[in-house]
Amino acid sequence: MATVLIVDDSRTSRRILRNLIESNGYTVVGEAENGEIGFLRYKELKPDIVTMDITMPQMDGIESLSLIKHENPDAKVIMVTAAGQKEKMVEALKRGADDFITKPFEENEILTALGHMEKR
Ligand SMILES: [Mg+2]
Repeated sequence: MATVLIVDDSRTSRRILRNLIESNGYTVVGEAENGEIGFLRYKELKPDIVTMDITMPQMDGIESLSLIKHENPDAKVIMVTAAGQKEKMVEALKRGADDFITKPFEENEILTALGHMEKR
C-alpha cells in the first residue's frame, strides 16, 4: 500500500492522523512539524502521498506545497484545512493541491482522499 508523509505542526494532529492512516493499512514513512522540514523530508523519503497542514510556523503548507510541486509535479498532496480557510484552499488549488481533508479529522474523509490519490 501507499506510503504517506504527515506534515503538521500539531503533535496531536500528527498522532491522530498517523493512527487513522496506519490502522487502514497505509505506511507512514515520516512526519514533519513545518513546511520547510516537510519539503526536505519529501525529497529524502519520496512518499506516495503527503498530508499537508495549511497553518504552520516558519513555512506554511501553501509554500511547502508549491516547493514540492515545483520539483515534483506528480507529487500527491492532500491539504489539511480548518474551518474558515476558504481563501487558503483556493490558493492551494492554484498551486496544485490534489485534495483536502478537514480538522477535526474524520476517518471516512481521510480514506476517501487517500483512495483518490492511489487512482491518479
Ligand atoms: Mg497547524
